[in-house]
Amino acid sequence: MKEGEIINENEIVLPVPCSHVVAAGVGGKENKIMIREVDMYQCVCDGCGKSHVDDFNGYVAWSDETMAAEAAYESGWTNIEGKDYCPDCYVYDEELDEYTPKKKL
Ligand SMILES: [Zn+2]
Repeated sequence: MKEGEIINENEIVLPVPCSHVVAAGVGGKENKIMIREVDMYQCVCDGCGKSHVDDFNGYVAWSDETMAAEAAYESGWTNIEGKDYCPDCYVYDEELDEYTPKKKL
């Protein structure tokens, strides 16, 4: 097979020795990898506006809202009265026996 030879719509011989790869989403005639914008979700802190990123796994966004929220809560975020707060923005209030948002300075 020759370099750059198009085998069929979804397969192409790349100009690298011994490479015969199936490229995901090769777009027919143009032979470009198809990239498109997708909607992803992040949990955003209501206190400081910081968005949650999962440093451990290297994720910065999730494919649905529930997963984004769950990932944030696993990282120590919490939801108080319908708003999400990062670990820097809420405190445990011993008198109330519950977590409360930190007062903004
Ligand atoms: Zn915050």
